[in-house]
Amino acid sequence: MSDRESRKIKKIIRASEKHWVGDGFYVSTMFSMHSEDPLSISPFLMLDYASPKHFEPTEEKLGVGEHPHRGFETVTFAVRGSIDHRDSGGGGGRIHTGGVQWMTAGSGVVHEEFHSREFAKTGGEFSMIQLWVNLPAEHKMTKPRYQGLNREDFPILEEGGIEIKVIAGHYKEEKGPAQSFTPINMFEAKAITDGSVNYSVDNGSTTMIVQTNGKSLIAGEEVLAGEVALLEKEGEKLSIEMTKDSHFLLLNGEPIDEPVASYGPFVMNTKEEILQAVEDFQAGRMGRL
Ligand code: MN
Repeated sequence: MSDRESRKIKKIIRASEKHWVGDGFYVSTMFSMHSEDPLSISPFLMLDYASPKHFEPTEEKLGVGEHPHRGFETVTFAVRGSIDHRDSGGGGGRIHTGGVQWMTAGSGVVHEEFHSREFAKTGGEFSMIQLWVNLPAEHKMTKPRYQGLNREDFPILEEGGIEIKVIAGHYKEEKGPAQSFTPINMFEAKAITDGSVNYSVDNGSTTMIVQTNGKSLIAGEEVLAGEVALLEKEGEKLSIEMTKDSHFLLLNGEPIDEPVASYGPFVMNTKEEILQAVEDFQAGRMGRL
């Protein structure tokens, strides 16, 4: 393998201090379009990770009430516990441990995100990830869509002590069930024993490895829990060594080379489109729950 072919780390991004999103999600921002050059992480916009946290049983609804989104997709992973979602596009459902909900806000939705009623009643360990994926200009105003995927919907393969769960795109020959608007490959890797992952990506694509537990050796550099390895765009081969209990989410995608204008829950291409989004939301044009 020549150096020209194997990817190097461009930068290691460290998780932010934890903060509450609503009253249910105690998260660290692992990367964000607000602190990185948006093109360097495109088509991904940001990722919040709520590491495992114990919640006492409650009758309350913990999470985030009614709020809008336009112009991108929210991808929520129930790492542990279960989450209820309901949106004005008619989408909704409950995902359990290992499940993923891929919501295309497109032209606009109003939604709510809560710990599920059944989880709240019993309490326990709760952990989740929310990733924002950008839409290209031509699809920003697409009709909202909801994909609710549970653990059994994903192919899980084992390769030399590493468990790979394919979410979108492909891992070698195995395809993930989530549909995306631009080419995206996404998988989770969990080391049952020490092992390694060898994977190929397209030259020029964006690749990030979000380390949520343990440690990995990526292109010769150690990456620890709470860190994201943002790779250089050149090169096709990735070789990652994982130590037992290492767990990461790999994100790979074709960059969307368009301007990013964002304000709170809206991600568009221009300031005018953001102002229009605010106006449309206030006028109730993104619907109601
Ligand atoms: Mn939301």
